[in-house]
Amino acid sequence: MKDLLFIDGAWVAPASGASFEVIDPSDRSVFHRVARGGPEDIDAAVQAARRAFDSGPWPRLSGAERGAILRRMAEEIAARTEELALLEVRDNGKPLPEARWDIEDTAGVFHYYAGLAEALEAEGPRDIPLGMEGFSASAVREPIGVAGAIIPWNFPMLMAAWKIAPALAAGCTMVLKPSELTPVTALEYGAIAQAAGLPPGVLNIVTGFGAEAGQPLSEHPGVDKLAFTGSVPTGRRIMAAAARDIKAVSLELGGKSPLVVFADTPLEEAVEWILFGIFWNQGEVCSATSRVLVEAPLYEALLARLAKEAGRIRIGPGLEEGVLLGPLVSAGQQEKVLGWIERGRREARLVCGGGVPAGLEGGCYVEPTIFADVPETASIWTEEIFGPVVCVAPFETEAEAIRLANDSRFGLAAAVMSTDLDRAERVARAFRAGIVWINCSQPTFTEAPWGGYKQSGIGRELGEWGLSNYLETKQITRYD
Ligand code: NAD
Repeated sequence: MKDLLFIDGAWVAPASGASFEVIDPSDRSVFHRVARGGPEDIDAAVQAARRAFDSGPWPRLSGAERGAILRRMAEEIAARTEELALLEVRDNGKPLPEARWDIEDTAGVFHYYAGLAEALEAEGPRDIPLGMEGFSASAVREPIGVAGAIIPWNFPMLMAAWKIAPALAAGCTMVLKPSELTPVTALEYGAIAQAAGLPPGVLNIVTGFGAEAGQPLSEHPGVDKLAFTGSVPTGRRIMAAAARDIKAVSLELGGKSPLVVFADTPLEEAVEWILFGIFWNQGEVCSATSRVLVEAPLYEALLARLAKEAGRIRIGPGLEEGVLLGPLVSAGQQEKVLGWIERGRREARLVCGGGVPAGLEGGCYVEPTIFADVPETASIWTEEIFGPVVCVAPFETEAEAIRLANDSRFGLAAAVMSTDLDRAERVARAFRAGIVWINCSQPTFTEAPWGGYKQSGIGRELGEWGLSNYLETKQITRYD
């Protein structure tokens, strides 16, 4: 099944007959081969999704009926948590306990949107008061049509869930193109859809490379909406492709998120959240708090503690008991991150890490790395590294911290730590970012909006905002 595509409810061979290797980054062994989908496969998948939308049952089912199938998908995922988590570790590299969280979260996302499918139906038409006698109007929300979803490799099943669940809850149909680096668990959605009784064509999955499968999907005239998560350069191409047919588009892109620590923060708490904020998931997290600003009186003590604790983080294969930091997703990503570290050595003071851990040269590992005294002009301060590398710098005043935090072309997330909650609230409001944490970093809730300001993207996923991504609003005005 892994070297086939999931189109119109069936497992089919790609038109090219070709496949490609998926590598386990813990030892660079070949973990799987998957189908190398191309434009013809994308066309077949979009046509299937189009038929399922235009004449199939899915958009015409009641919210309760769609919700029941989404719940079955959630149950199927939950029942297979361990098996899917094990696959996710080999696909992506992350430690097993984190992969388990991802799969549990994934099931939770389907449960949540099952509820929103029901709520959408209950909402019904909304009356709009009009100022002219004889006229009355209402607004109804309807599915937007066929959605094309293109996702990255850092949370393969979860990133797919953030798009599949709200799109299906809204009544849309979808073609999903997972990352070529982590296509294995995304394909499991085909089996999950079959087990849950999802009608054919509602969800189609085409594995393949960006240029061969992603681009034709973004350019296909049969797609009404593009939902993309990935890098800024690819986001730009997706937006340009969407412009041709004026497709709706939502983008979740990169980040270089700040964490501002005031000197009244207990040292232990600051250390805990800083480490989690950057080293969780090997730092391959769009919202990672990769720029840490520390109020001057706490700066040196905090740095010393951070270096000590980071040096203790256990690194190894994600399947090994007690490992907290797995390999990066690929040799390419490892090379990219090591390249940033080399630049960093010329730009700032390296206080911890900076290389490949001894004894783990066979995998795609990078040590937890901390740079201090990082100037605001340094490339490691301004560019997204997407690995276990954190930049630390001191600040003197609240105004300076806010200025430095906001001085970025990104605006995905930001965090502030202080025991003075008035100040923390004030700083939280001053951040130009879509996701703000007070006295923590990274907790993500399915109910709350997720997305960025500035070049971090357009639109919001999760919560009711995620559902709205897949809905059109229609006014119906009557004269009588
Ligand atoms: P990427 O942009 O290289 O690839 C993402 C997806 O786009 C992949 O499926 C890829 O095959 C596809 N793609 C590549 N070229 C394409 C093209 N020309 N047309 C259509 N599709 C194409 O990004 P990545 O390396 O997989 O992911 C890392 C990036 O994703 C980081 O910048 C990170 O910040 C971002 N990210 C953001 C969020 C968020 O929620 N904001 C979440 C995860 C990752």
